[in-house]
Amino acid sequence: MPVSTLSVRTRALMAACALGFCAPAFAGPNPTAEAQTLDILKHAIAFRSVQGPGNQTPLFAAYLKGQLVAGGFAPEDVTITPVDDTAFLVARYRGSDPKLKPLLLSGHMDVVEAKPADWERDPFTPVIENGYIYGRGATDMKFGDATLVATLVDLKRQKFTPKRDVILVLSGDEETIMKTTQMLAAKFPDAYMLLNADGGGGALSEDGKPEYFILEGAEKAYGDYQLTITNPGGHSSAPRKENAIYELSAVLTRIGQHQFTPQINEITKGYFLAAADRAEPSTAAAMRAFAADPTDKAAIATLTADPAEVGHIGTTCVATMVNGGHALNALPQRATANINCRIFPGTSFKQVEDELVRVAAEPKMQIHFIDTGTTASPASPMRKDVTDAVRAGLDVAYKGVPIVPGQASGASDSMWFRVRGVPSYGVAPIFIKDSDDFSHGLNERTQLFNIAPGVAYWKVLITRLSN
Ligand SMILES: [Zn+2]
Repeated sequence: MPVSTLSVRTRALMAACALGFCAPAFAGPNPTAEAQTLDILKHAIAFRSVQGPGNQTPLFAAYLKGQLVAGGFAPEDVTITPVDDTAFLVARYRGSDPKLKPLLLSGHMDVVEAKPADWERDPFTPVIENGYIYGRGATDMKFGDATLVATLVDLKRQKFTPKRDVILVLSGDEETIMKTTQMLAAKFPDAYMLLNADGGGGALSEDGKPEYFILEGAEKAYGDYQLTITNPGGHSSAPRKENAIYELSAVLTRIGQHQFTPQINEITKGYFLAAADRAEPSTAAAMRAFAADPTDKAAIATLTADPAEVGHIGTTCVATMVNGGHALNALPQRATANINCRIFPGTSFKQVEDELVRVAAEPKMQIHFIDTGTTASPASPMRKDVTDAVRAGLDVAYKGVPIVPGQASGASDSMWFRVRGVPSYGVAPIFIKDSDDFSHGLNERTQLFNIAPGVAYWKVLITRLSN
């Protein structure tokens, strides 16, 4: 973004941030809530909330319940439900009108496995260095858990009463099978909306300037399809015209040449219009042309050729694994391939399967959808009350930073709520540099300057959207 649009105060904040020591140089710093956020975050990283033996997610949930109850929640309003080796947490902040649908705040307590031997610092020991906190979950997403809990406690401290109930829903297996997420979504199918602290978020330039903020309103679905062609086989010295490997190869060539009909929705249209302001000229022109007319052939060709953009213009499918034959000197009895698809919101798994079968044009081919426990979900509408609240929340510390609608390629808890008709938005107030993004990876870290604006931001969102 053009830095000139930032206020002088924000620029001063950013200059300090670039050094890694950001003072909360905006109106309304909140030392109590900020200190509690950091304290919770340090405790949170120390819980090894990883799927499998020794999973400490239930202990982490109990710790968070302790913080909430000490902060003024009635013990019966904070429940922990054990599920297999994990658990989910529900904390209800009671509003004045129980007839109104609740506002959900969402996050997950589990983290991706981390092998201490591979890390420079122990992943389950919080380490603070040069303005960063290091540890598994520092970004994804114990930072968000800590900020939400501390903000809710702060609102209790200030005797804030929302109109509608505000319900914190923390899942316990988002990184793996999402069973707890599905249970949570089933509990609240009529929620007003869901704000997910595990999606969206801000981009920092390498010199520490906020560039834009992604407000995520949709995600593509993930689908794997196994293709199989079988054959009686035989001796390789007596080849026949029918050959499972050749037939599968021809199928894969046809699928490789196929393009799914480009699609656009309100979110990707908004994304292209905003992204065009920062793209190089030919890409920018294609983005604007596609936003105006998603059948524009030249724009489609340009965006299709760009690996960073092709996923934004529709469903993509690509061969990722292939296997065939059983001996060097035998005709293959079987050839299989995996086709991995990223499916545009509004398109079902079955529709993609039918299209793959049609394109394959091979009656002998069998197709099998591999159920990986995900779902296809519709896009949530870009509501004005949401964008206005996010604008106001960001303006506390990042005045004028552009808000870009986002459609994620990965899956988050939001999808299970979207399929039930709950509008869901990824709105995490963390600004991060590309070079610092180690979610799921080694040496995960987040800059601590995010705490103060994060608390202020959540207070704006929660107070505005619960009324
Ligand atoms: Zn996450």
